[in-house]
Amino acid sequence: MQSPDPLVVVLATGGTIAGLADKAGDNTGYRAGQVGIAELLAALPASMRLRVEAEQVAQIDSKDADFAFWQRLAQRVAAQLARAEVRGVVVTHGTDTLEETAYLLHRVLAPAKPVVLSAAMRPANALSADGPQNLLDALALAAHADARGVLATMAGRVFSAPGLRKAHSRRLDALDAGDAGPLGRIDDGRLSRWRPWPEAEPLGLAAVARAPAQWPRVEIVLSHAGADGAVVDALLAQPPRVAGLIVAGTGNGTIHQRLEAALRRALAAGVAVRRSTRCAGGGVVDGVGDGVGDGVGAGGAGAADDALPSAGELTPVQARIELLLELLAAGRTR
Ligand code: ASP
Repeated sequence: MQSPDPLVVVLATGGTIAGLADKAGDNTGYRAGQVGIAELLAALPASMRLRVEAEQVAQIDSKDADFAFWQRLAQRVAAQLARAEVRGVVVTHGTDTLEETAYLLHRVLAPAKPVVLSAAMRPANALSADGPQNLLDALALAAHADARGVLATMAGRVFSAPGLRKAHSRRLDALDAGDAGPLGRIDDGRLSRWRPWPEAEPLGLAAVARAPAQWPRVEIVLSHAGADGAVVDALLAQPPRVAGLIVAGTGNGTIHQRLEAALRRALAAGVAVRRSTRCAGGGVVDGVGDGVGDGVGAGGAGAADDALPSAGELTPVQARIELLLELLAAGRTR
């Protein structure tokens, strides 16, 4: 007896891939998250040997993603992956915060099956929409016999969740992965893979089980000429109290001296601080002897002449999620 075609579940969340423009040819002034997943799937050719189920989990512009959205999506992805008959999951998502959702799912679920984030830069009714091909590619990748881990595909390129970033505000191949580069390519359903599948020890759904309104506040601040740290002091003074701060530093995670002084005040006050870089690539490489108390445990203050703890390779937005998960695990709340 022939085995049935693989089953892929599409969890739809909105984004430009489900967007609509008022005028054909308007690729910037459209509304994201308008078209339902059933309609998007109906527009695809029926040629693939695949069974597809779909669920509309949300219908948002991903710039508005929040903790409740992440929690619900992580739960729905986990529930679908737990079904033995499901080969893989596709998540349709806006490009704006796709790298954040991908990293959260990677750290929480680190799935042994593929979870492929799919997106578009042009709305669904554009003159030449990129969504349908991107969605087809994502379905093929999610059905691939060997694929595993949280992935993203766009314009034929395939990426792992760690290191993923939106690198261009308008190009159709808007996603990038810094120095790591793409994991591979997908062409007419055929995968060419150059790098290993993403692996991690999954934290499990329990890591994001707390009521979203209770998740600790973790903010990102930017170092730049004239940065004086006033924004850090304001965050320390204003409720709900900030629990973690990521600084997007200059170069290899260097920080304006006045901003650094404010960050050290925050660290001394028990706020967890991580140093990342505002550079598009490279991350932060620690110097010998770097590393002080990271602020997640009790106390948090470190020696004044040591560098602030670094976020390593993580981009500022992915470092924020890493710290958020650490603080959740440490029982920190709002
Ligand atoms: N603002 C859109 C979103 O992130 C952009 C996109 O999907 O490309 O939902």
